[in-house]
Amino acid sequence: MKILINGINAGLRFSAAHIIPAHETCGCIHGHSYFVDIEIKGEKEGEYNFVVDFKIIKSIVKELCYSLDHRLLIPIYNDKMDFKGMDKDDLSIESFLKHDSIQFKIEDKVYTIPKDDCVLLPLKYSSAESLSEYFVEKLYDALKNHKNIKSISACVNEGIGQGAMFTKNL
Ligand SMILES: [Zn+2]
Repeated sequence: MKILINGINAGLRFSAAHIIPAHETCGCIHGHSYFVDIEIKGEKEGEYNFVVDFKIIKSIVKELCYSLDHRLLIPIYNDKMDFKGMDKDDLSIESFLKHDSIQFKIEDKVYTIPKDDCVLLPLKYSSAESLSEYFVEKLYDALKNHKNIKSISACVNEGIGQGAMFTKNL
């Protein structure tokens, strides 16, 4: 059995800006109105014979969407982003939070962005591919006690007709 949640209809959406460093067209700061579809496979169980309550999944994913909404997504492990004042071998979200702004260089472009305008992500990229893995890992952490779940998939859409899906089999 599987359950499906359609991100557009269920309101699992966020708008954010990102950069794909050194990419010909996506290398400039630009934005998307994202929506996130979720698919969860597993055995039905419990008092109501659910795979998992839709309400639980929607609340986790909505909170994740909210945490990314109206921000610039910064993948701190990207090797084309040279972060000022940071030790490349010891990057952590905590070390960035000591600064008021996030400063980085990509090739010959220099950026200084207020910290409050950014979301720091423990990722190499902020592509739909990487974001779908991020959503799945966060869901996996939140659903660890649901032993009946066999797989978790998230499709992060950058707009209608274009998304990346990642599946974690448990
Ligand atoms: Zn993009």
